[in-house]
Amino acid sequence: MSRKIINRRAFLQNATLASLSLRGIAARAEGSQTRSLSFVHTHTGERVSETYFDNNGYVTESLGRINRLLRDFRTDDIHAIDVRVLDILHDLQTLTGHEAPYEIISGYRSPKTNAALRRSSAGVAEHSFHMQGRAIDVRLSGYATSRLHELALTLRRGGVGFYPRSDFVHLDSGPVRFW
Ligand SMILES: [Zn+2]
Repeated sequence: MSRKIINRRAFLQNATLASLSLRGIAARAEGSQTRSLSFVHTHTGERVSETYFDNNGYVTESLGRINRLLRDFRTDDIHAIDVRVLDILHDLQTLTGHEAPYEIISGYRSPKTNAALRRSSAGVAEHSFHMQGRAIDVRLSGYATSRLHELALTLRRGGVGFYPRSDFVHLDSGPVRFW
């Protein structure tokens, strides 16, 4: 057997493997490409259910409706929410295996609201991320918040804070840290 033939066989095998694995990746992408989230806001009672990511990427109209729900409900100021926060929420919900809306305690906070909150409570270093649309305070309807917190820690993406007395988890797209 000549060296040439061996090489050709090896090439064909590699090409077949490459094509199979590409097809596998494409199939996985087709199956899992969409990302959806449902929210109910605890202060306004508003609800949205959106597929905010599909085969074409992030869906601008859906993000708009999500941004609106996650606005500063005290001032009605709207700010774009970092899609990484939405992806954290999406992946966290997948880990729970629990289909239910996220209950929103706090999303975006305007400088005015943040200043007011700082006056009324101490230790609000985390709030800067809320002011950048990069943080969210949530619980998952019908799911233990302590368990949600544990799963959020396993993601190792951004900041994770647990507030058991108020029954919510703070999540942000900042550096990995926890409290
Ligand atoms: Zn927070």
